[in-house]
Amino acid sequence: MSEDVDGETNGETAFLQRYSRHLMLSEIGEEGQAILSRSVVGVFGAGGLGSAALYYLAASGVGTLRIVDYDRVSLDNLQRQILYSTADIGRPKVQSAQESLALLNPDIEIVAVNARLVASNVDALLQPCCVALDCGDNFTIRDTLNGACLRQGKAMVSAAAVGFTGSLVRLRPGSAEGLCYRCLFPDAPDFSSVPRCDSVGIFAPVVGVMGVLQAAEALRFLLGKPSRLERHLLWYEGLLGQFHEFAVSRHPRCPACAAFSVR
Ligand SMILES: [Zn+2]
Repeated sequence: MSEDVDGETNGETAFLQRYSRHLMLSEIGEEGQAILSRSVVGVFGAGGLGSAALYYLAASGVGTLRIVDYDRVSLDNLQRQILYSTADIGRPKVQSAQESLALLNPDIEIVAVNARLVASNVDALLQPCCVALDCGDNFTIRDTLNGACLRQGKAMVSAAAVGFTGSLVRLRPGSAEGLCYRCLFPDAPDFSSVPRCDSVGIFAPVVGVMGVLQAAEALRFLLGKPSRLERHLLWYEGLLGQFHEFAVSRHPRCPACAAFSVR
């Protein structure tokens, strides 16, 4: 047996061992795991939501993770942004995230993009991705990503968390029946009245719960599994330990769907 064949055999054995608990599941199996290996997931925002989502996407064997963030690690991030350690303070988040995830799973590709998501770069950043995770912390970023998902017909798993509450929805902008982020918020909010984590606080595990659920939605989308969360917004009350669902649908006055002639 040549060295190349040995290396290939060892690699195959490691693959079977690493993902054995996925391979046991008939709903995933070797075929599903191969789909995940070929997939590209874009994670837009590497804060609390992104930290939790990225760990599970990397561990699950998504072949390529593209992480977009422009921020640096600060001490007050460490209460909930579990990708980072005290030694990372001051470093670009995407760089620290890339290193942490490579330690967990060296067999996947992790693309770190140290950039602010803006209208001029969003299409190029989204283009290679099969699905986008909206892990941002403000309306402008979500609206920008939503517009690109509409133009490219990409699915978007959107989550938000503040205080003790979190929300999650799987969006299919531009699809026949799907709704987009602006269908939920046809009128841009008054930014001065929107609560933010840096002004009202955030219960640390809420971002973990919502980020892990984002990863689950992304994996299930890649595996072709339908989701109730394409028609329902999931609401988590972290103070009470309760989940709620709210039915959602395309808004007839959605400015984004109208701009892209989605009827
Ligand atoms: Zn819409």
